[in-house]
Amino acid sequence: MQPRSIIVTGASRGLGRAIALELARQGCQVTLNARSQDLLAQVQAEIEALGGQATFLAGDISQPDVAERLVAAAVLAFGRLDGIINNAAVLEPLARIADSDPMAWQHNLEINVLGPYLLTQAALPYLRRTQGRVINISSGAAVRPTAGWSAYCSSKAALNMFTAVLAEEEPDLVALAVRPGVVDTAMQAILRDQGHQAMKPEVYQRFIDYHQQQALLPPEKPARSIAALALHAPLAWSGRFISWDDPDVLALIAEGQT
Ligand code: NAP
Repeated sequence: MQPRSIIVTGASRGLGRAIALELARQGCQVTLNARSQDLLAQVQAEIEALGGQATFLAGDISQPDVAERLVAAAVLAFGRLDGIINNAAVLEPLARIADSDPMAWQHNLEINVLGPYLLTQAALPYLRRTQGRVINISSGAAVRPTAGWSAYCSSKAALNMFTAVLAEEEPDLVALAVRPGVVDTAMQAILRDQGHQAMKPEVYQRFIDYHQQQALLPPEKPARSIAALALHAPLAWSGRFISWDDPDVLALIAEGQT
């Protein structure tokens, strides 16, 4: 069987980097995107050190030309496209609605919602040929309102609905929104640094406790679930908002090991 070709956005660090490495370990050809060129080159080198194949395109995924060039780079390098993982996102602005900067709010929605829309649209002609998969990295914030996170919560709720509409429109593709859990990445560090200004104290303290009690997930754990979904999720699941540790997902990983 030909190797699968998969695009991962936000692959310069954190969860996206871990997903890209896991896909490479499983024999996929990976096309990486984020804004930081040097970090992408490092992840590419890590994948090549594992014996895998990767290419990258640096750029802001909320820009239409970047989404188009990213798909073109994947197809040029690997001749096909089997999946996209819309992982790039920002948490900020961390501010109450009354105090928030409209430009910062718009910027969040552009990266977190418009970016996945643009990349999906650019990728669809190729994904239809391979009956591919679109994995949108969502959050518990999509369904749990949190003071100070209005842009982020709204963006992830929109991403879940975008996923469900995509499943309706493209019955031959698998579209999923995935909740990755609370993961030990730079996004959590920003929350701990800035969250006290806008969040309810008891909710902010919960995230401080996760960190102090070392209860944050290492990115490699949800990355295994997300890679399994990108490679094996059945068509019948399309449109779902699913957690990284849902029993169905853990069974999918176990099946892949047998
Ligand atoms: P992170 O460490 O901050 O990584 C975010 C990634 O997105 C980076 O690679 C960043 O790279 C990239 N990025 C940001 N803006 C971009 C843009 N405009 N264009 C292209 N790339 C961009 O965060 P993370 O925790 O790994 O987050 C990954 C995903 O998991 C996100 O969708 C997040 O919402 C979700 N999530 C995380 C948690 C958690 O606890 N960490 C919980 C629930 C959901 P550059 O800065 O180089 O562009």
